[in-house]
Amino acid sequence: MEPIDGLLDTAPCGFLSTTSGIILVANTTLLELLGHEPSSLHGRHIEAILPMISRLLYHTHLVPLLVMQGRVQEAVLSLQLRRGNHIPVLVNAVRRERGGQMVDDWVFMPMHLRTQYEDEILRAKKAADEATRLQVQANAALKEARAALESKQAELVEANARLEALATLDGLTGLKNRRIFQEQLVFQIALAKRTASPLSVLLIDVDHFKRINDTFGHLTGDRYLQAMATILQQHSRDVDIVARYGGEEFVIVLLNTNQIDAMSVAEKLRGTVETESWPMTAITISIGVSTLSQDVHDETRLLSSADQALYRSKERGRNCVTHACDLKRDPLR
Ligand code: GH3
Ligand code: MG
Ligand code: MG
Repeated sequence: MEPIDGLLDTAPCGFLSTTSGIILVANTTLLELLGHEPSSLHGRHIEAILPMISRLLYHTHLVPLLVMQGRVQEAVLSLQLRRGNHIPVLVNAVRRERGGQMVDDWVFMPMHLRTQYEDEILRAKKAADEATRLQVQANAALKEARAALESKQAELVEANARLEALATLDGLTGLKNRRIFQEQLVFQIALAKRTASPLSVLLIDVDHFKRINDTFGHLTGDRYLQAMATILQQHSRDVDIVARYGGEEFVIVLLNTNQIDAMSVAEKLRGTVETESWPMTAITISIGVSTLSQDVHDETRLLSSADQALYRSKERGRNCVTHACDLKRDPLR
């Protein structure tokens, strides 16, 4: 083997010269890297230090480059170690004429660290990709959970509204029920007192309603009650509180309404029911009216005096209106 110039022999890269693929010289760095004895590669084909894939690359890629361009730049190959392992290397080569023959000079830079770095970068990238994937998945799950929560909340709001309706409305007539009526009456009395406004109550009872049930059946009785509720609602102002008080009894709170006006409203309602064209048989109502005053200053007194007035209307022969104030002045018995 040709002697190699001292500096090149131990330079920090592998060096090799070949002609027609036959190794002319190899520096000590390369021999030590591959684990070969000095001179042991001399005269052998370069294939002796190339694993199968690199041999293919050598013939199909590197040799044509040397023939056509006279050089190879930054090719990546594997070298075959004597112990059997492969080592990745970066290869530069140049073809030039020396001593009357075409000689290829090869330089090999081991890439342990670079491959290691590349592996690490690849692993880091994979980890980052996985983290991104997990985050996207978590975001999607979060979005789904939020949508489910929103739909549950909407259901809850709807269910609450249904419950509220059940708790405050009368099932047969759709009017306010007695419980919510009492609540609102207490509130309105307090408001009326604070603003010194008049407030009246009409207690309405269908006359001889039992006969409707007995003659035409309970279902017809129900329809009469529904129709009665509609009439009362239609002939009241939006601010008035119309409620089913129980059975065939209804109650209306007239806000900002004094005794005279309340009597006039009650009389109008009574007349409307009387002249309504009922399907089976005509019905009438009796009404008891009461108005807030110094004596009648809370809901209990207001309702009980309206009840007494209603009772008086019944006693007077039904289909009439009585105000609680007239009870004392006009004792029946
Ligand atoms: P009065 O003129 O004295 O008020 O006679 P009335 O028959 O109306 O009074 P009574 O208290 O004797 O009867 C009321 C009837 O109302 C008895 C009850 O069966 C009926 N009733 C109460 N609630 C309902 C209901 O929701 N549907 C039906 N169809 N009937 C009802
Ligand atoms: Mg009754
Ligand atoms: Mg009745």
